[in-house]
Amino acid sequence: MPDLDIPEAPALPGSTHLHSGKVRDLYRIDEGPHAGRLLMVASDRVSAYDHILSPGIPGKGAILTAMSLWWFDELADLVPGHVVSTEVPEEVEGRAVVCEPLEMLPVECVARGYLTGSGLREYDETGAVCGIDLPSGLVDGSRLPEPIFTPATKAELGDHDENVSFEAVVATVGQETAEELRRLTLEVYARAERLARERGIILADTKLEFGRRPDGTIVLADEVLTPDSSRFWSAEEWEPGRAQPSFDKDVIRNWLRSPESGWSITSPEPPPPLPAEVVERTRSRYAEAFRLLTGAA
Ligand code: ATP
Ligand code: MG
Repeated sequence: MPDLDIPEAPALPGSTHLHSGKVRDLYRIDEGPHAGRLLMVASDRVSAYDHILSPGIPGKGAILTAMSLWWFDELADLVPGHVVSTEVPEEVEGRAVVCEPLEMLPVECVARGYLTGSGLREYDETGAVCGIDLPSGLVDGSRLPEPIFTPATKAELGDHDENVSFEAVVATVGQETAEELRRLTLEVYARAERLARERGIILADTKLEFGRRPDGTIVLADEVLTPDSSRFWSAEEWEPGRAQPSFDKDVIRNWLRSPESGWSITSPEPPPPLPAEVVERTRSRYAEAFRLLTGAA
């Protein structure tokens, strides 16, 4: 397991820190009108090759939070979302949301419309992804005949999620819930893929998380359709048969792999600090993705 140096989450008044992932910090709100609810804070942290890099990307947390909120709105007729309010403590203004505490369903609900990453690796070995047979001759970046549901189980921090079959999801959450998760995931993906494509972005795949309300309703949780949970590619540059440039992280990955960084992917050392120019170009990529998708500045 790679060592992940997650910085200590800042203390927030009236809240208890529960958990920190690579990018986000989760708190329980103890006081005020939202007592009992959760505060999900997106930091400016950025990761690549299983390392959290420094420095962060200024404004990334705010951009990804705004993007997630925008998608929750766009998807509201398909599935209820977990966001309750954007009135958050001053310290995290603009990059945090108040959300309903849900009983999370322990499935990473992934939809793929294009083949790459762990899906491609599985396909190359077996001709199938998560038990779904695919036609032969597909390559890195190929568009699939139709989008597929390729669930995964959540790994411990720093480990990679593991792709599982639909039957494994049934064994975990039951037939009816598994079918509902698959239906919702594919519906969300279809809507988002179309919308992104109209705006010059290919949504290759995305990972969703769902939870249940006490009354049993399934609710879309976590972050949705951000570059941290999804692969965004430039439609213009899409060219099956090679690794597609990542809309947001390509600048960082290219620099890390270049001789200038003095670092190699196989190095046991953490990557060196990102130069200001790499940080700025990456920041502008996040801003550009947001502008293209939402049409907002
Ligand atoms: P990583 O990159 O390691 O995934 P991250 O920065 O994305 O890290 P997570 O570890 O995913 O952070 O932290 C978010 C946690 O919050 C997840 O465990 C997710 O399941 C949980 N979560 C999201 N929405 C809700 C909700 N409404 N109720 C309860 N838990 C939630
Ligand atoms: Mg996560």
